[in-house]
Amino acid sequence: MAKHIQAVRGMHDILPDRTPYWQHLESVVRRLLESYGYQEIRMPIVERTELFKRSIGEVTDIVEKEMYTFEDRSGDSLSLRPEGTAGCVRAGLEHGLLHNRQQRFWYAGPMFRHERPQKGRYRQFHQVGVETFGFPGADIEAELILLCARLWRELGLDDVRLEINTLGTSEERAAYRELLVAYLRDNYDALDDDSRRRLESNPLRILDTKNPEMQSLVEEAPRLMAHLGEESRAHFDRLQELLEAGGVSFTVNPRLVRGLDYYSHTVFEWVTDRLGAQGTVCAGGRYDGLVTQLGGRPTPATGFAMGMERLLALMEESGSLPAPPAPHLYLAMVGAAAERRGLVLAERLREALPGISLVTGCGGGSFKSQMKRADRSGAALALILGDDEVAAGQVTVKALRDRMEQQRLDEPALVGYLRGFFTP
Ligand code: ATP
Ligand code: MG
Repeated sequence: MAKHIQAVRGMHDILPDRTPYWQHLESVVRRLLESYGYQEIRMPIVERTELFKRSIGEVTDIVEKEMYTFEDRSGDSLSLRPEGTAGCVRAGLEHGLLHNRQQRFWYAGPMFRHERPQKGRYRQFHQVGVETFGFPGADIEAELILLCARLWRELGLDDVRLEINTLGTSEERAAYRELLVAYLRDNYDALDDDSRRRLESNPLRILDTKNPEMQSLVEEAPRLMAHLGEESRAHFDRLQELLEAGGVSFTVNPRLVRGLDYYSHTVFEWVTDRLGAQGTVCAGGRYDGLVTQLGGRPTPATGFAMGMERLLALMEESGSLPAPPAPHLYLAMVGAAAERRGLVLAERLREALPGISLVTGCGGGSFKSQMKRADRSGAALALILGDDEVAAGQVTVKALRDRMEQQRLDEPALVGYLRGFFTP
């Protein structure tokens, strides 16, 4: 026999025993976002490579090292999307949705990054992303954060904490960048290889280093916060005021910087300690520079993305995954005559009892083996059709979860009985 072909490393099947959890997460997220007036947008999974180079920036890890880039048959350079913001802005510009309008969008789907696979880090992973356009103030940022806080509550998560920071305007950041580079250059000997490499390309990212040997160096680095202009400071103060009013606790983490170049002012992350090193479940902020970077007119923009695998892992860790679903009914059909009547009966019950799930004993087998399958299905009730029942025009009803007298009913009585049984 030929060897089985395996899935691509870092890309995972989501099997039927897990899909109910995904569906649960997706439906809670969808309901919540819609209740805040966010509208769903669906973008292609493949975009021109140029889009990511121009938005995320050529010197970021994502574009330098992590993108799945290929030439298609017409010689165009395309990439699997590593994130959704660039595509969302591209779509908004292409369809004229961003100019002089307020928009609240969301999307969900797979993203692709060629990273080293490990717990909480995959090469195909899934994000829910939210983007807003046309809102310049801290109010929308507070709304995004309040929305996340509500989502954690609805998902039964209480171990996620909020960190916020401000990156100021791009001018303020550019000025600060020079101070930071000068400081780091003075301490060149203490920098690790990664940081030396980033010194020219993306020095702010050095603040985010996970290397314990560089912690004190980074602690003592000049602070961007101390070099903000009045407006930036007021913006950040306002956000904190709104969060306090909304009852959301947070810490200001001056070392919180994002890997992507297009952020300005507010950045935030929701972090948990329960998932080891991959503890960030949601990250976002303001990116007023992006729309112009992609050829549009100046447009205030904010958003966040959350990692669905990490959220599910945290739900599992917190014991808040829902019980696996089970059908209401399992119909055992023993013998050819019962099968014929059974499939018709099943259709009539589906018609008469909308919302009821009924699994049939297709494939046949003995009474005993069908009852075993009925039990394994998790159904509340088994309906049994054998020769006796067919001859009498009746159905036997047997409770599989409760102690209850088994009974035989004809069809009209059966419908009434089931309706009563399943409506509280
Ligand atoms: P990290 O620092 O963990 O690499 P990031 O800054 O690259 O994260 P973002 O681009 O902000 O992540 O993506 C938002 C969220 O998507 C992350 O907070 C995380 O929950 C999730 N995420 C990012 N990369 C991966 C991945 N490779 N596998 C699983 N989830 C991921
Ligand atoms: Mg990353």
